[in-house]
Amino acid sequence: MVSSMSSYSIALLPGDGIGPDVVAEAVRCLNAAQQRVPSLTLHYTEHPAGAGEFLKSGNPLPEATIEGCRVADATLLGAMGLPGIRWPWGTEMTPQIDIREILDLYSGERPIYLYNSSHSPLRGFDAGGIDLIIYRENTEGMFASRRNQPDLQADEAVDTIRVTRRGTERICRAAFESARKRRKHVTLVDKANVLPTMAFFRSVFDEVAAQYPDVATDRVYVDAAALFLVKNPARFDVMVMENMFGDILSDLAAGLVGGMGMAPSGDIGDEHAVFQPSHGSAPDIAGKGIANPIATILSASMMLEWLGGEDARVAANLIFHAVKEVCCDPANATADLGGAVRTAEMGALVERAILESPL
Ligand code: ATP
Repeated sequence: MVSSMSSYSIALLPGDGIGPDVVAEAVRCLNAAQQRVPSLTLHYTEHPAGAGEFLKSGNPLPEATIEGCRVADATLLGAMGLPGIRWPWGTEMTPQIDIREILDLYSGERPIYLYNSSHSPLRGFDAGGIDLIIYRENTEGMFASRRNQPDLQADEAVDTIRVTRRGTERICRAAFESARKRRKHVTLVDKANVLPTMAFFRSVFDEVAAQYPDVATDRVYVDAAALFLVKNPARFDVMVMENMFGDILSDLAAGLVGGMGMAPSGDIGDEHAVFQPSHGSAPDIAGKGIANPIATILSASMMLEWLGGEDARVAANLIFHAVKEVCCDPANATADLGGAVRTAEMGALVERAILESPL
């Protein structure tokens, strides 16, 4: 029985492309969870951001939107950026990355879980047989010089990898804390054999690991990690790595469990957190009503878990188990999973499972 009364303010940033469609389905599921847990109240405020907002106002991330995220208890984001709308020097607008840096959301947490064996291109894995989480450092690493504008007429362009002791310590600590609640194993992914910044990352990892003697560790170079993820993803529990390696391997890992539509994420700091599907705005399928909303629905569940009150946790669990139940039937599949279920139908299936499941 849930006894506390809790109320949380949620900033919604639907964004571009399929973002608004998948956020609408996540809100539908959050509302169903609130019906089951009446002591939980969520107040939503919607804010503009993204490439579409840039076309309207000239700013993809208005100050009022940042403030809206700052004052909210948590933020749920859809997707941002459109390939045709770029800065003059060629890179895409990425307010979803800017916000991680502005709110210091250093811990990119990306759970990878197989809900149905039919979702995986790999053979031999039952539901739950792939179950790992990637901790991606979100504020430095190979993304450090991403705001620099290249001279497109010059003979070369140079990016900087920045790895700080503080940045590495805090992401490693987040990974070890998570491992303590899971199977007590952390894999460091780096390129310490080649890059000095990665040798430094490894040495800080080793120092943090010494403070967690109850957690087993191993160390894998990023190229080998890509191979092992495909050959035997079951060997991994918690994986920790710098920004760009996390960007790349989390897409690879999502591919093992059905693709981007099945991969939720949380960008978490000490004060704030933003939850969003790991995918982008998917312009190739935007407006067709066929996007898979599961990643965003699961991100909403992660958000409730992070909010942390007893009733929010119960609601988080309801959503997670409803997704599990819906995915038990391989016919409940959107186009990316080889089925014909549309975005809103998938949202409605999860909503019904939430409303009908035992507490
Ligand atoms: P970003 O760089 O912002 O992560 P991206 O350009 O790498 O974005 P995505 O937008 O993530 O790419 O899309 C990659 C592929 O995955 C596309 O083919 C897209 O249609 C597909 N995809 C992404 N999200 C979903 C979803 N929710 N449902 C179905 N397919 C999706």
